Amino acid sequence: MKTPKAKAGSRSFRSPQTTPSAIPKTANFSKIAIDLAEIGKGFYARGWVLGTSGNFSAVVSREPLRLAITSTGVDKGILTPAHFLEMDNAANVVRGDGRPSAEALLHLAIVRGVGAGAVLHTHSVWSTVLSGSHASQGGIALEGFEMLKGLEGVRTHKHREWLPILENSQDMIELGERVSRTLRESPGIHSGAGRT
Ligand SMILES: [Zn+2]
Repeated sequence: MKTPKAKAGSRSFRSPQTTPSAIPKTANFSKIAIDLAEIGKGFYARGWVLGTSGNFSAVVSREPLRLAITSTGVDKGILTPAHFLEMDNAANVVRGDGRPSAEALLHLAIVRGVGAGAVLHTHSVWSTVLSGSHASQGGIALEGFEMLKGLEGVRTHKHREWLPILENSQDMIELGERVSRTLRESPGIHSGAGRT
């Protein structure tokens, strides 16, 4: 499940994308890797990514599409910038060692679907429990919370944020297509949820 906090994190990566030509690509990737490693360690400390679970990415460039993303199998408690690699729009590694998670295709689907600047995929106990208990309804509604005003364009706690829940699959191409379709059918969505 992506939380509103994850979306807030994504916004901080948007500004470099407004002037991509003014920023050396290497410096941009390095800065993103440093920031994501810091965010990841914070997530680990909060119990949002246990062990090697979860993965983080951020857009390095839109044209061509390049993402910095955690390499697979890294314990998030010891995450460093060296654990990030750069991949292209088909999840091929173009910089760094290791390979991206199978879920990399979902990161690409979300970045394409909502123009996200970053995708912070967690595995918290709370989101797992909530996803399980609300799966039969196809999603969970968040409303009445003051913190909803942290979402872009939301001015009141009365806002109702619908987080779709998608059944997990080991077929990432099929799951990625379902993520893309869900995002298309939910215009205005701030974030997505999944049971991956
Ligand atoms: Zn996962």
